[in-house]
Amino acid sequence: MWMFYSHYPPGFLKFTPGLLFFFLFNPQSFAVKAQVIPKAVEISGEESEIGYKFYASNVNHCPVSLIFSFDAVNICGLPTKRILVEANVQKQFLFEMKLCDPRKDYKFEYKCNTWLGDTELSSYDSTFIYTLPFPKGKAYKVSQGYFGIFSHQHLQALDFEMPEGSSVCAMRDGIVVCIKNNSRIGYNHSSSMEDANFILIYHKDGTFAIYGHLMQKGNLVAEGESVQQGQVIAYSGNTGWSSGPHLHVAVFSYKPGENFDIRTYSAYFKEANQAKTILQEGKTYTSIHP
Ligand SMILES: [Zn+2]
Repeated sequence: MWMFYSHYPPGFLKFTPGLLFFFLFNPQSFAVKAQVIPKAVEISGEESEIGYKFYASNVNHCPVSLIFSFDAVNICGLPTKRILVEANVQKQFLFEMKLCDPRKDYKFEYKCNTWLGDTELSSYDSTFIYTLPFPKGKAYKVSQGYFGIFSHQHLQALDFEMPEGSSVCAMRDGIVVCIKNNSRIGYNHSSSMEDANFILIYHKDGTFAIYGHLMQKGNLVAEGESVQQGQVIAYSGNTGWSSGPHLHVAVFSYKPGENFDIRTYSAYFKEANQAKTILQEGKTYTSIHP
């Protein structure tokens, strides 16, 4: 019933002025409690005629947001907002910083937080119609809906009551960004929050979908793989903080923050009786997609 998304403190790097640098950057953790760990974003730099140029390489299958903060003396041209690094990119130029006064001494150090996706996602396709996350003809009850009082108080997330081993379908086309599949632990206590298996999928409008509490090794797709709407991607389970076999899904994007550092979005679904509806807690819906 409960999926927790959190972000961990940044690494902290120091530069020695005048030296070329090339760091393997520590990954930040994004989570359905800690498990959604983006692969390391590599920050590199080189001296330029006026200062330094910063670059990043990203091996994640989705864009990554970088937010720098600097402690600097006599340095100009620093970024003031998040910088988006494209998916699977080698050495993307980020920004160039320069000496405010070339005749004076300078120094700087920085830290950089990373998040999956665009933390400033301002436009996404709010009209998109999702398909139910199970095969055609199957019907399951929404045991907890948006802002449900059990564990969705802050989340527009949906729980479908379904037996372990049920087929789980992609609700929308996308690319698989991250998978956890090694847990077989699940019980109704927050201490098992980190034990939920899941699949995280990135959509082309910048949103993500999470499919959580999957059975051990229940994934049928791999990281980096493209999936089609309606495709069977996994088998459901009861891993993580869960009071019984069910599937948890949510559409969201990451945002900087301390606690629930995600922004969830309501989604329209089509099902047997309605072409476009917001799903309601307690009701049972029948899938019509292939
Ligand atoms: Zn849930």
